[in-house]
Amino acid sequence: MGKPTGFMEYDRVADTCRPPKERIADYAEFHAPQSKAERQKQAARCMNCGVPFCQSGEVFGGMVSGCPLHNLIPEFNDEVFGGHWHEALVRLQKTNNFPEFTGRVCPALCEAACTCRMNGDAVTVRDNELAIIEEGFAKGWVQARVPAVRSGKRVAVVGSGPAGLAAADQLNQRGHSVTVFEREDRPGGLLMYGIPNMKLDKTIVARRISLMEAEGVVFRTGVDVGRDIPANEIMADYDAVVLACGSKTPRDLRVPGREAEGVAFAVDYLTCATKALLANDVPALSAKGKNVVIVGGGDTGNDCLATAIRQGCQSAVQLEMTAKLPDTPTEQNPWPQWPRVCKTDYGQEEAIAVFGCDPRKYQTTVKEIMADEQGRICGVRTVRLQTEADKKTHRPRMVEIPGSEETLPCELLLIAAGFVGCEAYVAEAFGATMGERGTLCPAGGQFRLAPARLFAAGDARRGQSLVVWAIAEGRACAAEVDRFLLSEY
Ligand SMILES: Cc1cc2nc3c(=O)[nH]c(=O)nc-3n(C[C@H](O)[C@H](O)[C@H](O)COP(=O)(O)OP(=O)(O)OC[C@H]3O[C@@H](n4cnc5c(N)ncnc54)[C@H](O)[C@@H]3O)c2cc1C
Ligand code: SF4
Repeated sequence: MGKPTGFMEYDRVADTCRPPKERIADYAEFHAPQSKAERQKQAARCMNCGVPFCQSGEVFGGMVSGCPLHNLIPEFNDEVFGGHWHEALVRLQKTNNFPEFTGRVCPALCEAACTCRMNGDAVTVRDNELAIIEEGFAKGWVQARVPAVRSGKRVAVVGSGPAGLAAADQLNQRGHSVTVFEREDRPGGLLMYGIPNMKLDKTIVARRISLMEAEGVVFRTGVDVGRDIPANEIMADYDAVVLACGSKTPRDLRVPGREAEGVAFAVDYLTCATKALLANDVPALSAKGKNVVIVGGGDTGNDCLATAIRQGCQSAVQLEMTAKLPDTPTEQNPWPQWPRVCKTDYGQEEAIAVFGCDPRKYQTTVKEIMADEQGRICGVRTVRLQTEADKKTHRPRMVEIPGSEETLPCELLLIAAGFVGCEAYVAEAFGATMGERGTLCPAGGQFRLAPARLFAAGDARRGQSLVVWAIAEGRACAAEVDRFLLSEY
């Protein structure tokens, strides 16, 4: 700990956000970094407390708190405070392959567990992490590391999201020859087509892909494994195969009128928006001039909301089935548990600035979709819900409140109601088993699947999660693949 009194002398100062009305005029990132001097002060707030839950990644109260990558947080904060940015970068890169992604989009499980949060504000760990890696790129310290020796072993990674990229990076650095297959036209998974540009600029993703290419990783885009190339061909060509194909089957809305034109899944809509942005084109599916209803009050719904506002929607409503969470943690939800509180995210802030009210309607769902004579959606009928104990199981369940129906004008309905697992065709093609939660089931080891030489990582194994977890999965899976390959010598 460089400055024992730092946490008493300095208040928390996070990276600033551009004002909502300014930032909705473009798709550029809305976070603006603090100066290096301010970052050094912020790092001084870390007291190296001796109980660094921040780097634990442990389950407290049913949810993980602390960094799943076990980033060496007190150490890199100390280096930043001392102005030793290169040393801080070395510490950071020991555990995190892509701090430029987590530094932008991680919900910062570490900060929830920071000791300073017990009776004050957490250290700005995520912003410090971002400052370190961007300083590394700016100074030219992040250079391609080409392995000096190759093992002669070949690994195929199916899917180029953060799990596939982390697995590929680790295995390449171990000297194995890695090819990443991606069915989309650009690598990155949900980092590229999912998380919007204003949260994670796509040049940041492309920068990392270029670096990995320079290090020897081969990317083959536009290849749908299991459809364009048979699985047995991949298995025959490679010594090990990692399925990092995500968990992209969306939860559908089963209501009358679902087939109407103008109803779309969130990721399809967001993908379309990013592709149009990168091509400098008009999106085929746009919210421009439309009344938009988003089913799902979570992060994906929020990304849809922010995108719809930038496209110039007429109005936006976000429906959430559950009740509003409290604004501050309850006594039953103490530090270092993840705080279960109502978060007003960037999209909701923007909706409040543009439309003058919070777009969220809690305990409400869609009951029916209405269409015009051409089959195009023109409205939705919503209903309010309340919690009731099931008569048989006594478990709480949501039931409709009679007479609470309402009709909303709607020309674009976006379904952001979560995901039910990975796509069955990949599992079927490789003969892998899918469990009840729609994830690929390991059979021996943590990541190894039943057909020999086949492994799984990321959302495909864990279920829809976070970028930080995908990187952690990719790293741990790569270690298991590496042990398997070495055992073959
Ligand atoms: C809209 C949205 C916003 C999100 N925002 C955040 C956030 O802000 N912060 C955060 O931490 N997490 C966020 N998440 C979650 C996070 O993006 C995921 O948990 C993470 O990307 C999972 O990584 P992955 O590598 O397992 O899978 P993915 O990122 O889903 O990548 C899987 C890749 O595999 C490819 N693929 C699938 N099948 C095949 C095949 N047969 N052949 C070739 N390629 C194939 C897919 O095209 C895809 O590119 C968000 C998720 C969504 C949907
Ligand atoms: S990866 Fe996320 S949880 Fe880990 S230190 Fe960075 S911001 Fe915190």
